[in-house]
Amino acid sequence: MISIPKGTKDVLPADSYKWQYVENAAREVAALYGLKELRTPTFEHTELFSRGVGDTTDIVTKEMYTFRDKGDRSITLKPEGTAGAARAYIENGLAGGAQPVKMYYITPAFRYERPQAGRLREFHQFGVEVFGAKGADADAEVIALADALLKKLGLHVKLHVNSIGCPKCRAEYNRALKEYFAPRLGELCADCRSRYEKNPLRLLDCKEEGCRKINRDAPVILDYLCPECKAHFEALKGYLDLAGIEYSVDPRIVRGLDYYTRTVFEFVSDDIGAQGTVCGGGRYDGLIEEIGGAPTPAVGFAAGLERLLIVMEASGAPLPPPKGPKVYLAGLDGECRKKAFVLAQELRAAGISAETDHMERSVKAQFKYADKIGAEYVAVIGGNELAAGEMNVKRMADSTSEKVPFAKAAEYFSAK
Ligand code: ATP
Ligand code: MG
Repeated sequence: MISIPKGTKDVLPADSYKWQYVENAAREVAALYGLKELRTPTFEHTELFSRGVGDTTDIVTKEMYTFRDKGDRSITLKPEGTAGAARAYIENGLAGGAQPVKMYYITPAFRYERPQAGRLREFHQFGVEVFGAKGADADAEVIALADALLKKLGLHVKLHVNSIGCPKCRAEYNRALKEYFAPRLGELCADCRSRYEKNPLRLLDCKEEGCRKINRDAPVILDYLCPECKAHFEALKGYLDLAGIEYSVDPRIVRGLDYYTRTVFEFVSDDIGAQGTVCGGGRYDGLIEEIGGAPTPAVGFAAGLERLLIVMEASGAPLPPPKGPKVYLAGLDGECRKKAFVLAQELRAAGISAETDHMERSVKAQFKYADKIGAEYVAVIGGNELAAGEMNVKRMADSTSEKVPFAKAAEYFSAK
């Protein structure tokens, strides 16, 4: 038997309705906020991510699925959606159209991680990107969209916000971080020692317990913000208050991607432990320029669909059950089964979901099957019914039944 690759999952027919429910909810909320869908390729040139996501991030240093194709190009399966969206924005001239450009995507993403609950090698994201708007009102709208989706899904999560400033204030903060960590270098993990050299901000994102302890007393970025970044953060909090969205300021959030500037945020659930971050995002004013476009402010987020589903299940959030067919047509034998086949086609043509037997089962066994798949009605066609040109329709919920002429079948079920 050839088994599924580690860290990947099948979504089986019995479960796919859950995915469709979450995806539909995401599409509906995106439409309410005026976003249109963007679809970009599953793979991109590796350089897009090493430059865009940042070559000191965990994603780029450890987690990418990178390979050489037959043309000897370095190709990477997308580990996230923002870099591809930014590339598409530049390459398709969207910067030249009406601004801001508001887009969303639902995409698989690939990261070579140690698989565990809520951490996969292929996972899925609902992502939102708004290009061209620099004001904190745009940040607040993006956060409000995420908040609306999480509420629609019945989740109780906490919003944490922070500002990590612009390159100007961060230079000073990085100096302060280096000063703080210098005497403690020996206690840090090997990764953090290299982060210390290349990108001290990354130190704060380490998940090792030892490093996290040391991080607790590190200087706080909010004390180093320049006046403009401070004003932007104050404005963001003001807009969140106006929208009635609860939040707490967590100066420890830096996010795992290098392109963030100013606003960063996470929605966290207490229901699934370490993998409780269902949604993360922020402002990335430097990204478009970094990958070759004109300087363009932008803000967005990505939510992991697997984690949303895990948290929904863990917290007992309501999930509408899957629907069975409207009608199951049970034919007794030969001609009756043919009639069931024809009627199923007629009903489907009228937009009514219908099924019939393919397993040569008895009527009794067909009833059992219809019940199992959740059919709302079972229409039995035996010899007498065939002769009379009608079927015996039973409503499964209360076992009431009535005779319905074949010619009236579509009309009858349309009204139900
Ligand atoms: P974490 O800190 O949990 O590793 P991250 O900072 O790497 O998350 P992002 O890159 O911001 O996460 O991705 C956005 C969202 O995608 C996360 O909040 C999470 O819901 C989801 N996600 C990230 N990595 C994985 C993964 N390996 N498997 C499943 N979902 C993931
Ligand atoms: Mg990660």
